[in-house]
Amino acid sequence: MLAPHQLQMPTLTHSSFTASDSRRLSIVVPCFNEAQGLDAFFDRLELILHQLQPYDHEIICIDDGSSDNTLDVLRRHANRNSRIIVLELSRNFGKEAALTAGIDAASGDAVIPLDADLQHPPELIAAMVEHWENGSDVVLARRQSRTTDHPLQRFITQGFYRLHNTIAECEIPKDVGDFRLMDKRVVDALKQLPERRRFMKGLFAWVGFKHSEVEFTVEPRQSGKSSFNARRLWILALEGITSFSTVPLVVWAYMGFTVATVALFYGCWIIIKTLAFGIDVPGYASLLTAILFLGGIQLLGIGILGEYVGRIYSESKQRPIYIIRQRYGGNNPDA
Ligand code: UDP
Ligand code: MG
Repeated sequence: MLAPHQLQMPTLTHSSFTASDSRRLSIVVPCFNEAQGLDAFFDRLELILHQLQPYDHEIICIDDGSSDNTLDVLRRHANRNSRIIVLELSRNFGKEAALTAGIDAASGDAVIPLDADLQHPPELIAAMVEHWENGSDVVLARRQSRTTDHPLQRFITQGFYRLHNTIAECEIPKDVGDFRLMDKRVVDALKQLPERRRFMKGLFAWVGFKHSEVEFTVEPRQSGKSSFNARRLWILALEGITSFSTVPLVVWAYMGFTVATVALFYGCWIIIKTLAFGIDVPGYASLLTAILFLGGIQLLGIGILGEYVGRIYSESKQRPIYIIRQRYGGNNPDA
């Protein structure tokens, strides 16, 4: 890992800001089994936030049901620095829910979600704030390259974005993750979205607002390992597509129409053939192929229907997105 002095600082320095003194930044950090790397994370983050004065800040860390001693480490930091607030969730709810918990608790004029593994360089916050001061409601951090990803992961991610952006109601910008700065107005809009199953990248895109971009290079994870394996990424991709598009539902009507039309013409052809040449008994293979093909398509259609019905089911239960077991730090005497 690079030492703070080796880091490439943004070309813009805080002296060029026209900060209104009271503006406050809320940094939201979801943490799941990140104990090893948190000390280095706070070192780097606090250094850059210190350089960003006169902006005030709060750092909201969410312990998303970690099984290591992440919570203890977070509490230790919250005891040291009153600007650090720790939300302990009652179990692992997943990154999207943890982010929602942090964003709900944020009271700043701008909110910046940040991964705890230092893959999102905190130094970029300075450039984001500069764009924000220049009038952007959302400042997106775009990954310059995906060299830290496995080639297969890169291929699948590209495919996901292409499919999503073709069929979904609003486009997700490519190579942009949760790392971004959002003005309070955007955060207030986000809080109005009631869905329980939250695909944050999609929700961020859905609310819109004026945006600009800064670029960054993803650093390798500084310690521990990613919690997003192929299965979780697949679930997230399904979540993304079914949250923002009903095309997979509607497409079966067109498919059915096409197959029915082809079947009609085929039926006419058989009638004509039978009248002209008599009954043709062979046809077992084509019959079986047609039955299996249609059976497969019907099952696929039912499966997709099931995915949406499942979503209606879980949304209709109206369960909370996350449960906070305890809040530490800030003005809370329990810390
Ligand atoms: N994370 C979380 N809950 C989870 C999984 C991950 O809060 O169930 C946090 C994790 O601690 C990290 C961020 O989400 O701060 C991104 O996770 P990770 O680095 O595993 O994902 P990747 O960078 O590989 O997409
Ligand atoms: Mg990561």
